[in-house]
Amino acid sequence: MDKKAYISVVIPVFNEEANLDRLLSRLYPVLQSLGKSFEIIFTDDGSRDRSLQILREKTLAMPEIRIIEFNGNFGQHMAILAAFEQCSGEIVITMDADLQNPPEEIPNLVDGIERGYDVVGTVRRDRRDTLFRRLASRLVNATVSRMTGMRMKDYGCMLRAYHRNVIENINRCRESTTFIPALAQTFASNPVEIEVAHEGRTEGQSKYSLYKLVRLNFDLVTGFSVVPLQLFALFGIVTAFMSLIFALFLLIRRFIVGAEVEGVFTLFAIMFFFIGVVIFGIGFVGEYVGRIYQEVRRRPRYVVRRLHNFDHD
Ligand code: UDP
Ligand code: MG
Repeated sequence: MDKKAYISVVIPVFNEEANLDRLLSRLYPVLQSLGKSFEIIFTDDGSRDRSLQILREKTLAMPEIRIIEFNGNFGQHMAILAAFEQCSGEIVITMDADLQNPPEEIPNLVDGIERGYDVVGTVRRDRRDTLFRRLASRLVNATVSRMTGMRMKDYGCMLRAYHRNVIENINRCRESTTFIPALAQTFASNPVEIEVAHEGRTEGQSKYSLYKLVRLNFDLVTGFSVVPLQLFALFGIVTAFMSLIFALFLLIRRFIVGAEVEGVFTLFAIMFFFIGVVIFGIGFVGEYVGRIYQEVRRRPRYVVRRLHNFDHD
């Protein structure tokens, strides 16, 4: 049986039992209406609920479904990378399982690739997330754009389409911490961004705790830019220069007015500020060092327990 598909839809799944039925009942007709061959690759990222069983049952009625079963929870981005390695489509689409990305937008993405763009990025119109998430996202988008020079409006939206060429390049990367939209952007020669609708999560909760979100954004910043390191170097130079001027001023003042005694606590406040900055800087360097350590160990990035419904099973 030739299972080469024209469109591959890639969906990471982590404890999404309540969403899968509804997801497939909307996604499947959309893909069928395109009249092209397709496959839907789910990566079960170590779900502890019935997600995997539900998906396996679905393959009976929907033979286009393939499942990569992970050995544990390796995170959304690793789940997508594993599916990239298995997918065969000319056009590869990533999306979330929680229906925050409406499947009805897929024809527009396919159209973008067919018109010759190699990455079709998306910007969420009326984003339905908490105020905190939206504000934090805006901050991340602005800083990352500036630091990496990548000019993407919305890094977080996963409903995206990639041409096969971009996927092949991504598959050549071996990094174990990454951020897929940014990684794809580095290989894109002709990207475009379109607006897509966004919906609230209907069932279940976001799989990202605040801690996981912070880690992910550190991956984004440290994985694609060394500007933070350069900023600290710059800050160090400016501070050293200013304190030199200040020391000269105190020296001259000592001859004219005499030694200064007051303001001890002001000095403490200023000191603490700088100590804080220094610790922050060390932490930031640590972020890079930790990631370098992780990369040099060359452990497997994820472990696949089993492939379901692929050619070879
Ligand atoms: N996800 C995953 N592994 C994880 C966390 C999330 O595969 O460790 C999947 C999740 O099932 C969903 C997608 O990644 O399909 C996005 O997750 P979520 O909706 O929780 O993120 P948010 O929309 O809050 O950014
Ligand atoms: Mg979501």
